[in-house]
Amino acid sequence: MTDTSQAVLMNGADLARSHVDRTADRAAEFERRTGRRPCLATVLVGDDPASATYVRMKQNRCRRAGIDSRHTPLPATTSTGELIDVIRGLSADPEVHGILLQHPVPQHVDERAAFEAIDPAKDVDGVTMHSFAAMAFGLDGFDSCTPGGILRLLDAYDVDPAGRTAVVIGRSPILGRPVSALLLARDATVTTCHSRTPDLPSAVRTADIVVAAVGRPEFVRGDWIKPGAVVIDAGYNPGNVGDVAFDEAVERAGMITPVPGGVGPMTISVLLEQTVDAAFRQAGPDGTS
Ligand code: NAP
Repeated sequence: MTDTSQAVLMNGADLARSHVDRTADRAAEFERRTGRRPCLATVLVGDDPASATYVRMKQNRCRRAGIDSRHTPLPATTSTGELIDVIRGLSADPEVHGILLQHPVPQHVDERAAFEAIDPAKDVDGVTMHSFAAMAFGLDGFDSCTPGGILRLLDAYDVDPAGRTAVVIGRSPILGRPVSALLLARDATVTTCHSRTPDLPSAVRTADIVVAAVGRPEFVRGDWIKPGAVVIDAGYNPGNVGDVAFDEAVERAGMITPVPGGVGPMTISVLLEQTVDAAFRQAGPDGTS
C-alpha cells in the first residue's frame, strides 16, 4: 500500500503478483495429484493486433504459472457456426479445463451465441449467461475476470461494499454489468450509469465506491468525486490513460487505482486462478475423472 498526501494507491500490480504465485502453487499441486497440468484453451478470430497481444500475454502468464495453454487461431472469415463447432469441441475435450474466446470477435459473428457454446464448467473468463447468473445471485461460479479482479482489489484493501453506495459507469457485458451484479451481491447499493444517464456528475457525487468502465480517456473529473470515495478506474485507453482524470481525482479520493498498475494486472490473475479452480473441479476429489 502506498500513501500519497491525499489518497491510498491501490496497487494491483503487486497484488496480482502474489495472487499469481498462489495460483502457481495450486497448479503445481494439481500436477502432483493428477500427473497433468491445468490447461487453458484460447481462441482468437481474426488478426486484430491488440487482441493477438492480449492472447499472447495470457499464454505467457499461463506458462509462468505452470498452466498449459492451447491456442486455436481462426481466420477473420470464420462463421458463427464454425466458431461454435470449435468451441463445442473444446468444451467436450477432457484435456481442456478452461476456454477463453478473445473479445471482440468480428462483427459478422454472433458473439453471444459463441460464448454460450462454452461449457459453464470451463467458462473461466466468466462470459456465459450461466456465469452471469451465478455472479448476480452471489453463488459459486466463475467471475467475469476484470470485475472479479476489482472485487479482489477491494477485498485486499479492506473495502467492504456492504452498506455503501456504488456507482458504476458503463454497462457492457464484460465489465459494467457484471461488476454491478457482484457489488449488489455483496450488499452495496448500486447505480449503473451509461450513455443515456442524465446528470452523470451528480450521480457520481453520491458514490462511496466509483467504478469507471467507459472507454473514454480521463472522462471522470475530479470534482465528480465525493471526498474520501474509493475510485476504481477500469479504463485502459491508448497511451496508458484511464477513464478517470487521475491527477484531479487523487486530490479527493480516499483510495484510487492507478493506470497502469491498478485493475489491469488483476484481470489475468483472475483468469489463471479460475483455470486452476476449473481443473480441480473437473478432476473431482480423487483426481481421476
Ligand atoms: P464498452 O463495451 O465500449 O462500454 C462502454 C460503456 O460506457 C457503455 O455501457 C456505454 O454506455 C458507456 N458510456 C459511453 N459513453 C458514455 C457517456 N458519455 N456517459 C456515460 N456512459 C457512457 O467498453 P468496455 O469493454 O466495458 O470497456 C470499458 C473500459 O474498460 C475501456 O477503457 C476498456 O479498455 C477497459 N477495459 C479494461 C480491462 C482490463 O483488463 N483492465 C478489460 C476490459 C475493458 P451505453 O451502454 O449506453 O453505450
